[in-house]
Amino acid sequence: MRVLSFAFNRRITYVNNRSLFSKPLIQKFSSSSRTYDAFSPLDTFPRRHNGSSDSDVKRMLDIVGVKDMEDLASKTVPANILSKRPLALEDGLTEHELLIRLKKVASKNKIYKSYIGMGYTDTIVPPVILRNILESPGWYTQYTPYQPEISQGRLESLLNFQTMVTDLTGMNVANASLLDEGTAAAEAMLIAYSAGKQKQHTFFVDEKCHPQTIACLQTRAECFKIKVIVGNALKHDFDQYGKNLSGILVQYPATNGTINDYTELANKIHSMGGKMVCATDLLALTLLIPPGEWGADIAIGNSQRFGVPLGYGGPHAAFFACKEPLVRRIPGRLVGVSRDPSGNKAYRLSLQTREQHIRREKATSNICTAQALLANMAAMYGVYHGPEGVKAIAKRIHDFTNTLAADIKRHGYTIKTDHFFDTLNVHIEGGSESIYKKALNAGINLRKVDDFTIGITLDETVTKDDLVNLIRVFAKDPTYIPSLVDVEKSNIPKQFIRTSSFMQHQVFNSYHSETEMLRYIYHLQSKDLSLAHSMISLGSCTMKLNATTEMIPVTWPEFANIHPFAPIDQAEGYKILIQELEHDLAEITGFDSISLQPNSGAQGEYTGLRVIGAYHKSRGDEKRDICLIPDSAHGTNPASAAVSGMSVLNVKCNNGDLDMKDLEEKANKYKDRLAAFMVTYPSTFGVFENGVLKACEIIHNYGGQVYMDGANMNAQIGLCKPADIGADVCHLNLHKTFCIPHGGGGPGVGPIGVKSHLMPFLPGHPVIKTGGDKGIGPVSAAPFGSPNILPISWAYIKMMGSEGLKSATYYALLNANYMARRLSGHYKILYTNQNGMCAHEFIVDIRPFATSADIRAIDVAKRLQFLTR
Ligand SMILES: *Cc1c(COP(=O)(O)O)cnc(C)c1O
Repeated sequence: MRVLSFAFNRRITYVNNRSLFSKPLIQKFSSSSRTYDAFSPLDTFPRRHNGSSDSDVKRMLDIVGVKDMEDLASKTVPANILSKRPLALEDGLTEHELLIRLKKVASKNKIYKSYIGMGYTDTIVPPVILRNILESPGWYTQYTPYQPEISQGRLESLLNFQTMVTDLTGMNVANASLLDEGTAAAEAMLIAYSAGKQKQHTFFVDEKCHPQTIACLQTRAECFKIKVIVGNALKHDFDQYGKNLSGILVQYPATNGTINDYTELANKIHSMGGKMVCATDLLALTLLIPPGEWGADIAIGNSQRFGVPLGYGGPHAAFFACKEPLVRRIPGRLVGVSRDPSGNKAYRLSLQTREQHIRREKATSNICTAQALLANMAAMYGVYHGPEGVKAIAKRIHDFTNTLAADIKRHGYTIKTDHFFDTLNVHIEGGSESIYKKALNAGINLRKVDDFTIGITLDETVTKDDLVNLIRVFAKDPTYIPSLVDVEKSNIPKQFIRTSSFMQHQVFNSYHSETEMLRYIYHLQSKDLSLAHSMISLGSCTMKLNATTEMIPVTWPEFANIHPFAPIDQAEGYKILIQELEHDLAEITGFDSISLQPNSGAQGEYTGLRVIGAYHKSRGDEKRDICLIPDSAHGTNPASAAVSGMSVLNVKCNNGDLDMKDLEEKANKYKDRLAAFMVTYPSTFGVFENGVLKACEIIHNYGGQVYMDGANMNAQIGLCKPADIGADVCHLNLHKTFCIPHGGGGPGVGPIGVKSHLMPFLPGHPVIKTGGDKGIGPVSAAPFGSPNILPISWAYIKMMGSEGLKSATYYALLNANYMARRLSGHYKILYTNQNGMCAHEFIVDIRPFATSADIRAIDVAKRLQFLTR
């Protein structure tokens, strides 16, 4: 690192809280009664969010040398993109009003007892974890642990997650989480594809994997021309593929509940030079022989049922574990154990050379933000229950399932699942619809597998009463009361019974009382820096307030306890929330339609590029495969282009600005192959480039589409719009600009906005209909990505209103320009515009100090860490 970049949203604050944009409340009360308006709100949210007082703002404006905020904006943002019209959004609500309105929306969600399964089951979030992790800013506001000195607590917790996953799956290594099970399967497929000596273009998927997993994988396969064959893995003739088979995916236990023996299959696949990938369930693996012991090379899955709410589909932490030879190919973050300078044990992110930041277009995965907070919750669940506890939970679920099977059989139905853990498929002679409906009337969701099959998956929340209610759905006599006496012994045949131990590490065997657990959580938290302590002078993800009012609805049961595949009429509240959020984001960005499906900024990039690809293809233009990306782009841009199957060409930057000549030359030279241009605006160098309109025009002239990386949207809201600037598609990082906390490296939401010509290609979903009519396949396992955290961004927009949102943008620009001005006497500020202004961030040139004082950027960064601590 040669330079230091400072990014600003609204985090520079002074002591006085009144802002320029709220009603001058104190004056009103302190002056004569004539100005007192009993009907204006006592408190307004924007002043709480923005922080700085009127007098501070005035001083800052003076130092920057501008009259007011409008003057600042007109000297910073190019005139030809500055919006004239205010955003057409509702007026801002107070925090109190917001919660009342949102509660009304939430209450439209109906909470049924769901036995749908398909990778999502209800779970009991231990209250000590709920309150002290999920609801604690000491855990949810942290940044990705790039700086180990101030991250030992969460690094230890993530290592616990990795250890737990490694043990349960019987693998050698596991990463610190991925976005969801479907994309984890896609990552595994790509590893199988790239690990082979030569490219093997066939990948086989067992038909008894979850449908959304198969679909995510197919979406990803298209970019690499990988042929995905779906069939019955136990009966399939693999020899026909010869050397072309890169690997196979099976699910254990399968989506219909069956436990199959894949040992021979694994041997067969290995003998053909392919990789064996297994989608699995951590809880089942407490009872079953783990995939690592029967020959799988990679194990993936969802850790949601380890104490993370259903949340209508997410966020949850997917896991990815593999055998030693594949370690260097693991996607996402990996925590390792190292030594600090004094020789003590210390944790840090490891193998970072593979990351997209460094490898750029050579990266094999674009994962940046993952699911750290949810991985921490799952790890803590493991710590709290310990190996015996999680096994007891699994055993009870299995016993209940057995009892259920016995009773259902007694009523004359056939159980189609021979050996199961928690899921049954029941054959319904008269048609499954009647049972499905009868269950709905009793407030129960079952899985309608097909016209004659019902699926039932049990979980740890199921009580004896629930079991009675469930059995009565299958009873023909409405007065039937099951006795539940004959809990049968395990249905799992000996050959599948796990004998190896797991989670033997001390950490999983020490904190089983609530007192000990609480202290462990606080012990780890105290080692870390979060927004509860100070600003974090690194990373745009943490440059915002995560207001308590925005966070409170996340754990409301109306939002937390819905299964993603519940009938949509049970999710009316979510529907309203999603539609309103889409509407507001469309207004803010100027786009015609929004997809909330992508679970991170990088996934948004991937989605947007795939949508562009589908658009070109629909016009018979599939040879368009080149993506132009400026040198200054964030590492995920080239990585996303690469994982979308595009070829990346770099465009030069001159003195911080796009080199327009280079752009035009390359666009011209490759005019038949130009697919897209990715541009971050304002740029990561911290300037609103004047040439941006022109750049978009050039790209369009040569038949390309413009992808805008909207991670810096905090500098645009209310002042200009990506769609007006010329972008065809743009992602937003709701976990940056729209206040979702960063969680120590996830969750995230990376929606994309598109112009109308791209709408038909928005991503769909195999289970719940969404997206465009010619939509690309799903890019996330759940139809709406991570709905459980959407109330945060919805609440932020509703409380800020049009004026409030614009004020936050003004503050971002003012804070950055003020800091740049204050530092410019001592340091060289690398890039500013013709008026000497930066955007929401700027770069300080530290290079001269390397020769004059042997001080480098890293030294300044380390000092900043300890100043803010
Ligand atoms: C953060 C960021 C991204 C990636 O977003 P993730 O949510 O971490 O995947 C992409 N581009 C820019 C400019 C960013 O700042």
